[in-house]
Amino acid sequence: MSENRIRSYAALTAKSALVPHEFDAGDLSPHQVEVKVEYCGLCHSDLSMIDNDWGVSQYPVIAGHEVIGKIVRLGSEAKGLKLGQRVGIGWTAETCQACDHCLAGQQVLCTGERKATIVGHAGGFADKVRAGWQWVIPLPDDLAPESAGPLLCGGITVFDPLLKHQIQATHHVGVIGIGGLGHMALNC
Ligand SMILES: [Zn+2]
Ligand SMILES: [Zn+2]
Repeated sequence: MSENRIRSYAALTAKSALVPHEFDAGDLSPHQVEVKVEYCGLCHSDLSMIDNDWGVSQYPVIAGHEVIGKIVRLGSEAKGLKLGQRVGIGWTAETCQACDHCLAGQQVLCTGERKATIVGHAGGFADKVRAGWQWVIPLPDDLAPESAGPLLCGGITVFDPLLKHQIQATHHVGVIGIGGLGHMALNC
């Protein structure tokens, strides 16, 4: 099998069951990293993309944006990462690194070439996933990989505002709804 082939479970149409789907991902770009998937969480946004709830799904949809795995290929321009390293990939897979938002450290608001991991991009319900090196997050070796996935989506979503508002241990914070995000907030 060519090294660019990826085996996945994909939805071929809206609201359909996932089926085995193999495709050629093309050559790895110099800025990209390829990760062999060990675990992948399941988030409600995966279901929204599979079902085309937001009207933006392009089929086949390969969902999965709470990816935990190990780096198996590094593009020539990928920085700060090494082969075999355990990493995570969350909602965002690529940003332009050149627009005003990216240069201000607000890459999630990128107005340039931005790709979400599961929107027009192949996600983690697969043997391998690719992302720009900036979005491949090194993980501590002693973090349990089977439970780390949700940190990449729900976890960062609630951790970011706690950080931004400089929440201290003595503050009172209201968490409305103890679901996917809320229970992560309680653990912060
Ligand atoms: Zn999510
Ligand atoms: Zn940008």
